[in-house]
Amino acid sequence: MNWLSNLIPPRIRSFVSEQKEVPDNLWQKCPGCEAMLFHRDLAESHNVCYHCGHHLRLGVKERLGLMFDEGKYEEMPLPQVAYDPLKFKDRKPYVTRIKEAQSKSGLKEAITVVSGTMGGLPVVVAVFNFNYMGGSMGAAVGESIVCAAEMAIEKKAAFITIPASGGARMQEGMLSLIQMPRTIAAVEMVKEAMLPYIVILTDPTTGGVSASFAMVGDIHIAEPGAMIGFAGRRVIEETVRETLPEDFQTAEYLLEHGMVDMVVPRSDIKKTLVKLISILTGQKATYEPDPEDTKRKDIESTAYDKKAGSKAGRKKYKKSRKKGKRSAVATSTEAELKAKAAVKPKYTKASSQARAAQSKAKEDITRKDAQSVKGEVMQSSKKAASSSR
Ligand SMILES: [Zn+2]
Repeated sequence: MNWLSNLIPPRIRSFVSEQKEVPDNLWQKCPGCEAMLFHRDLAESHNVCYHCGHHLRLGVKERLGLMFDEGKYEEMPLPQVAYDPLKFKDRKPYVTRIKEAQSKSGLKEAITVVSGTMGGLPVVVAVFNFNYMGGSMGAAVGESIVCAAEMAIEKKAAFITIPASGGARMQEGMLSLIQMPRTIAAVEMVKEAMLPYIVILTDPTTGGVSASFAMVGDIHIAEPGAMIGFAGRRVIEETVRETLPEDFQTAEYLLEHGMVDMVVPRSDIKKTLVKLISILTGQKATYEPDPEDTKRKDIESTAYDKKAGSKAGRKKYKKSRKKGKRSAVATSTEAELKAKAAVKPKYTKASSQARAAQSKAKEDITRKDAQSVKGEVMQSSKKAASSSR
């Protein structure tokens, strides 16, 4: 405070300071289309741009709330590990960085492990917090994944990991790198117990995380537009001395090249998971889509279609048609249309006379949709196999 602010009478001073407390994050710019997004509308669409369908990063609690039945889940206490065993210090001591990250994110570590049910089926989820030191994997994260895998086996539950990470945690040196084989061993235990292991790749999944447990799932689901890769684009370009395609390391690019099984919009992730787990475990799910969700999905997919119909999208589509390949954008829109066709007669026309049909449809939806998803999965795994050869 300078001498001038001391002269202002206290009442006026409080008025001025209150004015300053107006939050400045009411509006956010969409990284996809640069439109300004209002925070309340954005929260309603679960951080998906309502103009272009761009998937912005989503907080852990919001994401878990979307996935579990009635938004309810149980959080597992994180295992105790030795913090800062190397007494590491760069510009700041590592301990200070941990404290800062904890107060900034309000979370204890870069990972959260929860259990609950999806469509009545038991699941254990390990989700990364990108706001906590870039979601980096240190000893605590590795140990948590091991514990989560053990818990999944104990509960006979499907295991789902949702990485959003910059890779290994540099401040823990070798101890952080050791977590790569440890997490692989952990998910192998889940597979040996004949339980499904599913990965939902979100923006960004890079470095040591993409080089370990995130790439060995039974099924890989990715969010549209997510950046997934090991090294950064510039590093690769300098090494191979080649200009990489524009959509390099995006979810759609990886789908086309067989690294990802499906690209699923955020609003459809729960439905897809329930179907997949139900097929893989042979258990019957009790999931009924919320009509509100279907409405939101329609808005989202039109936004996504618009994006695919943009100049760049059309160009890419034409280019890939010339090559005789289906473009990633076209694949996902086609898949969405198919999904829409499957869903529409059952849910959107849910007026008086359709109600009766709806209840009948509910019974066979799991079986029918399960078959279509199975076909999709088979197709993409075939694609994966052919491209790896
Ligand atoms: Zn946008």
